[in-house]
Amino acid sequence: MRFRPVRGMRDLLPDEARGLIRLFDLSRRLASLYGYEEVILPTIESYELFAAKSGGEIKERMYTFTDLGGRKVVLRPEATASVARIVASKMLGYPKPLRLFYIVNLFRYDEPQKGRYREFWQAGYELIGSGRALADAELIEMLSRFMEMAGLRDHRFKVGHVGVHRALMGIFKVPEHEQDDVLGFIDRDQWDEAMKILSSYPAELRDVLTGLASVKGGMDKVFEEAWEQLSRYEPALRELERLREILRYAVMLGVPRERLFIDMGFARGLAYYTGVIFECYSHLRVALAGGGRYDKLISLFGGPDMPATGFAIGLDRVHLAQVEAGVSYEDRTFKALVVLAGEDERVVRLAGEALRALRGKMGARAVLDVSARSIKRAFSYASAQGYDYVVVVGRREAEKGVVSVKNMKTGVQVEVPVEELPERLPD
Ligand code: AMP
Repeated sequence: MRFRPVRGMRDLLPDEARGLIRLFDLSRRLASLYGYEEVILPTIESYELFAAKSGGEIKERMYTFTDLGGRKVVLRPEATASVARIVASKMLGYPKPLRLFYIVNLFRYDEPQKGRYREFWQAGYELIGSGRALADAELIEMLSRFMEMAGLRDHRFKVGHVGVHRALMGIFKVPEHEQDDVLGFIDRDQWDEAMKILSSYPAELRDVLTGLASVKGGMDKVFEEAWEQLSRYEPALRELERLREILRYAVMLGVPRERLFIDMGFARGLAYYTGVIFECYSHLRVALAGGGRYDKLISLFGGPDMPATGFAIGLDRVHLAQVEAGVSYEDRTFKALVVLAGEDERVVRLAGEALRALRGKMGARAVLDVSARSIKRAFSYASAQGYDYVVVVGRREAEKGVVSVKNMKTGVQVEVPVEELPERLPD
């Protein structure tokens, strides 16, 4: 019998996995630079965790099943809900604000296509316990920094603020679950459906929402225009002012203002957003990352009123964008194959020392050749596999406490005392 991965699932062989793993490393480095602590989250969560606030589209595409204990569970389609659950139930005593970070695989039954998979990877950052504009600005700057570090210098942000829409609908007494549905349809660009929900409310609400949707552009132009449209709606104006404050802080923290594109008709699929929302793009037409403020999720999960904001980076898509943009990392470590000539105790011990020296000081990739092949075959294997060095350990060498090291690019071969590895590698 022959097996293939299930539709939408991927086997990532070393070359494909490497790109993603580098991004795991990069996102961890970012977390540590900004003081975010990593948490490890369960892959399976209860269905109810996502039923209330994940938004129609995501909810419909969850991998839902009943486990052997009869519980209705899902393979997580996103991770913010898990973080909010943990904060609400287990981290109330921690000093605020909390900065949490995670790397997760997620599952959504989307139609597979370029940059869209049924299992994919995200790195997420959540800043919990601060309702200030400065907190949202930190996240936007941080995401921008990530993209810089990933070599995607052409990235830009699409920014909106569902607090404005919610405030408008609030004025007209639209209940929260209907607000969620309206925003869900706006996210999918199904304005007809959104307007259908609002058909029992005054036409004025529909007019101001559709008018607002055409307001987009750079920071200066947009605020003037939006201000004019919202001038009669004080609560919405306060939210708009908040958006302006967030973006001003983001620029102060170092985000070039030309990277910020505001779209007042922008909504996101997840229903828990209450304030600023943003997505990051590069030359790829699909979003590389997205996030926003979700001030009510923690209280919904039984915690106190606790403001929170965060974002997640779609690592598979960032990798795709890097490949297409030809981004290459400078790889400062090298790869060495350690080959045994003879296997008596002294040889194996010396090879162990050589491997430890190579791996230890410089974190080089040092691989022990465990196959019983001739030295000549080992050299041709090393050359085909792109090894930088071959280190030969034999009886003759073991007697002298040296190893023979050959630089595979230059062909230069020298004998080096094992304790001088890796400093004395031949050029
Ligand atoms: P979301 O959790 O929907 O806010 O998405 C955040 C990011 O995850 C997006 O900007 C994408 O980069 C990535 N993403 C979402 N869905 C998929 C998918 N089906 N396949 C690959 N990446 C995805």
